Amino acid sequence: MKEGNKMKIENLPSEFIDARKVLQVIEQNGFEAYFVGGSVRDTLLNLPIHDVDMATSAYPAEIKKIFKRTIDTGIEHGTVTVMFDHKGFEITTFRTESGYQDFRRPDKVTFIRSLKEDLKRRDFTINAFAMKENGEVIDLFNGMEDLQHHLIRAVGDANQRFNEDALRMMRAVRFGSQLNFKIEEKTFAAIKANCQLLKKIAIERINVEFIKMMLGISPSRGLQEILGTDLFEYVPFFNQYLSELKHLANLDLSNHLTNEIQVWSLLAFELNLKQSQIRKMMKLWKCSNKMTENVLQVVKGIKMLQNKQIVSLFIYQIGLNNLLNANHVMEIYGLNQGEEELENAFNSLPIKQKAELNVNGGSLIKAGFKPGPQLGKVLNDLELMVINGEVENDQITLINKAKELANEN
Ligand code: ATP
Ligand code: MG
Repeated sequence: MKEGNKMKIENLPSEFIDARKVLQVIEQNGFEAYFVGGSVRDTLLNLPIHDVDMATSAYPAEIKKIFKRTIDTGIEHGTVTVMFDHKGFEITTFRTESGYQDFRRPDKVTFIRSLKEDLKRRDFTINAFAMKENGEVIDLFNGMEDLQHHLIRAVGDANQRFNEDALRMMRAVRFGSQLNFKIEEKTFAAIKANCQLLKKIAIERINVEFIKMMLGISPSRGLQEILGTDLFEYVPFFNQYLSELKHLANLDLSNHLTNEIQVWSLLAFELNLKQSQIRKMMKLWKCSNKMTENVLQVVKGIKMLQNKQIVSLFIYQIGLNNLLNANHVMEIYGLNQGEEELENAFNSLPIKQKAELNVNGGSLIKAGFKPGPQLGKVLNDLELMVINGEVENDQITLINKAKELANEN
């Protein structure tokens, strides 16, 4: 496959096929155009490709002249979407970035004609490949060697690169977990030396990288690096939980976590957090309310599974999805149950949600009840009794039971 120090990929994955034509058209118009970033890296690693990024020496105005239909997607950064054969393709003009006075965003983006200068601003050597439409790979920073040695190495001077953009430190840890690669020594040392710069970065962006890290193939590695580099001191909430995080980092987490709800639930469980602390952690990490509510349910499910008991009321409240999320987390400890067993337990609940109860406020009022708080309480009691199998979910039976309950109070 290797020709001199050029490398050529013979059979490009299907994701590149349509986009190739766009690159060819740009080249026919006298400009350079390449695939860049993660798609080239993942192709070289034989991994599935997410998004195909393309870069060109043509300025946005020139791209707009070449193609009939374009959309100014991120024109200030040089990104134009080209419509070609009824599909959209994002093309970004080569650029350099300068400034970075705030340790996160460049003050100035300059469009340039040089591929090399564009690749130089990229974060890691394995993210700084370019590939021609014919599959020829351009590797100006020895990314190939780092791929072979499974290393995450900053392009250029690591210290400077993390000073320009502190998020790159979290990205290093994230790619380390996603690829199960080690952070190269100097890059690691530079993270350790600059970790406090993470304070400058918006929590939402740290959150995205952290979750990608936890959902990677080697989250234990990622956690160990967050601890080893001291980054954990500068992410929300974690600095009081060093010993718990160390314990978590020593668990075999590979292939267990499949979504963000599970990630936060595992953390809540391992950090031994009360409900109020879970809310606090998730608020500091800027998680959505919906995410937080899900996690609170999953943690309930975890406690239930830990006790090796299936309680109808719990599985009704938790819901099937979060029950399965809890089960995924408990798989880490070998305390999971068969999914089918849990599905069956949920499916055999007399009702799955309150709306399935065969009475509601309206029907009870028709049967002579007065609106008010007592009515609500009666309905809740009926719901509980139906879930526990004490009363059948049948309207006449329920109304009679409601009268009984009202008389008792
Ligand atoms: P993924 O598979 O997660 O999309 P990716 O490598 O495509 O991985 P992106 O975040 O989509 O990662 O970024 C695309 C490319 O842009 C990277 O490969 C890298 O070359 C460059 N890049 C992204 N963010 C930064 C950054 N903060 N600093 C320098 N270069 C960056
Ligand atoms: Mg990408």
